[in-house]
Amino acid sequence: MRKTDAKDKTDKKRALLAAGLLAALFLASCIWIIFFGAPASGGALVCVYHEGTLLASYPLEEDGINPVELEDGAVKVIEIKDGGVRMLEADCDNQVCVQTGIIRSGAYPIVCLPHGLVVQIEEGDRAPDAMAR
Ligand SMILES: [Zn+2]
Repeated sequence: MRKTDAKDKTDKKRALLAAGLLAALFLASCIWIIFFGAPASGGALVCVYHEGTLLASYPLEEDGINPVELEDGAVKVIEIKDGGVRMLEADCDNQVCVQTGIIRSGAYPIVCLPHGLVVQIEEGDRAPDAMAR
């Protein structure tokens, strides 16, 4: 009986080792994706800030319609198309953000004042806080 116990233990050890190895592989591939798999060209990001905190970010070269829901239930729809960004829909009263139209650079952001929302393009090559210093 003791013999099988010992065998069980080594089996468990092997299983643990395999699981650890798998986990390490998974982690390595995640890191690989973060550093090398991310959009290569330019790397500009569309960043969505709510009262100063980053809510979401999307690659500028990835066309798509991205709904963003705020904590208070307000919904904004941000459209990325042909290297430009616009507020497609917003449930604010003044619709200034929707009327801003398409932005194509970080020169000025789309701002939705009633909801404290800012959508801006950030170039991937320079870190935002490097400019602030
Ligand atoms: Zn608005």
